[in-house]
Amino acid sequence: MKILILGVNGFIGHHLTQRILDETDWSVFGMDLSDDRLGKNLQNPRFHFIEGDIAINREWIEYHIKKCDVVLPLVAIATPKLYVEDPISVYNLDFEMNLNVIKQCVKYHKRVAFPSTSEVYGACPDPEFKEDESTLVVGPIRKERWIYSCCKQLLDRVIYAYGTRGHLEFTLFRPFNWIGPRLDSLYAAKEGSSRVVTQFIAELFMKRPITLVDGGSQKRCFTYVDDGIGALLRILANEGDVCKNQIINIGNPENECSVRELADLLKKLFINHPDHRADETYSEIIEVPAQTYYGEGYQDIYARKPNIEKARLLLGWSPKVGLEDSLRMTLYSFLEENEP
Ligand code: UDP
Repeated sequence: MKILILGVNGFIGHHLTQRILDETDWSVFGMDLSDDRLGKNLQNPRFHFIEGDIAINREWIEYHIKKCDVVLPLVAIATPKLYVEDPISVYNLDFEMNLNVIKQCVKYHKRVAFPSTSEVYGACPDPEFKEDESTLVVGPIRKERWIYSCCKQLLDRVIYAYGTRGHLEFTLFRPFNWIGPRLDSLYAAKEGSSRVVTQFIAELFMKRPITLVDGGSQKRCFTYVDDGIGALLRILANEGDVCKNQIINIGNPENECSVRELADLLKKLFINHPDHRADETYSEIIEVPAQTYYGEGYQDIYARKPNIEKARLLLGWSPKVGLEDSLRMTLYSFLEENEP
């Protein structure tokens, strides 16, 4: 099988590429702006990388959509700080650019595995979010955080409509707070624009305060990337066509914790790390109002828990890695990469 991955150097893209090359006989054709996370895979004869931009290298993309069996358009801005700071770029990249790719998948009759997001459920009050039942709830327009959720939701609806009319074979997958090595860079964290786990790890590393937005009682379910990629591989294999035109949550409901618990746990793991046991000081944990941290356009999501019955049933998959192990592996890998 030939897989096209746009955004192959991203968090999901580079982990997926590694696993495809290690565990299957498939070939990967990948494009990204840079290749710093791809390491030794760049030398693998089944991996074909080109440095490029989906807004510019359109001919390469069209040619490879024609040539490949499955398309994974993973290029997107997916960090809440940027939804608020630069909503137009979120719209251009996450919606318009990806819509072009989807239209070409329709044109050339190619299967697409598209990253929807747990963010589409927004402020849904359900205790567990279900793909085919839960209501998708967003805030007013002046709360610009929701642009990402809306862009993804509309794409989900466009893809679904093409699918139900027989013009496209798709699987929409919804990652719930995947974490792991190389989630975000230290550089992004210095800017304060990385996702919460990397942000907290980087603060510990830089001895800066850990900031709990609005007190940190909001909850997330953190999913270790190896588990998530395991589900994705099964979606790509699509044995017996089980994933055809399905929407599938990929998350770990067992790993639910509040942002405050997350901060405490990461601080404990950091203090117990062999290189940091004897540090003279450690980051304090402080509270910051959301408006100060993110600005006026932000609104939080207080709970986000996946129902994963569909993934269990269709893919025979369930997540294995617990919260503390997931955080330890993410922390240790960050320290290994950034320690002088
Ligand atoms: N958050 C926080 N401190 C930070 C960064 C994030 O308390 O330094 C909170 C944020 O308000 C949100 C949660 O952590 O409730 C998860 O944020 P993340 O950026 O990982 O993305 P989300 O899960 O909201 O998509």
